[in-house]
Amino acid sequence: MRGPASVIDCRDCPRLARFLDEVRCEHPDYHARPVLPFGDVRPRLLIVGLAPGMHGANRTGRPFTGDHAGIILYRTLHRYGFSSAAQSVDAKDGLKLIGCRITNAVKCLPPQNKPETAEIRRCNRYLEAELVALAPGTAVLALGGIAHQSVLRALDCKLSDYKFKHGAHHDLPNGLALYDSYHCSRYNTQTKRLTEPMFEQVFKDIVRDLSQPAQRRSKSGAAHST
Ligand code: SF4
Repeated sequence: MRGPASVIDCRDCPRLARFLDEVRCEHPDYHARPVLPFGDVRPRLLIVGLAPGMHGANRTGRPFTGDHAGIILYRTLHRYGFSSAAQSVDAKDGLKLIGCRITNAVKCLPPQNKPETAEIRRCNRYLEAELVALAPGTAVLALGGIAHQSVLRALDCKLSDYKFKHGAHHDLPNGLALYDSYHCSRYNTQTKRLTEPMFEQVFKDIVRDLSQPAQRRSKSGAAHST
């Protein structure tokens, strides 16, 4: 299993490595490499997105930073005590996550924000290493169906036993609790598929459950819609 130090040099997906080479030529000031997870190394909450955005994480090198997708995420994290600031501007803005870590299912920028299935599966080993390092009782928030499936695949869980549904949470056999939300992308927020109250409700559920870990663990294996 490769560690985080080698993720940053990974070029195992030829299409994505080529694309990043092109982006680096066009934007020499961009990060344009695999984007590492950001935040607390022993989090109570791990957030899993899809992949870096062209002018967001791919530019700044910090997940969900510098583009529209991070606006509602960091504002909500700050409101619920998981972030020291409500805006994540760039990797040197001094923002700290508190008991929280953010990662992506796919570490490299994909063309048109669409990773191929083989790329999602190839990158899954890095997510697996991040997930197995979490303490039992940690909440994992999947932003979108691909993140949800990537978490399940990394933990060797049967996908059909844990269906993605916004607002649902699934207690996984290894003691992690998986929460689902629509992705906080520009498209989803502008079309109102995901509203701020909907997103906040997911965080309210997570904060409530994190304060009652014993009760939550007693429902192990069940799926809940809240
Ligand atoms: S997407 Fe993941 S596996 Fe593919 S090149 Fe990037 S870091 Fe490596």
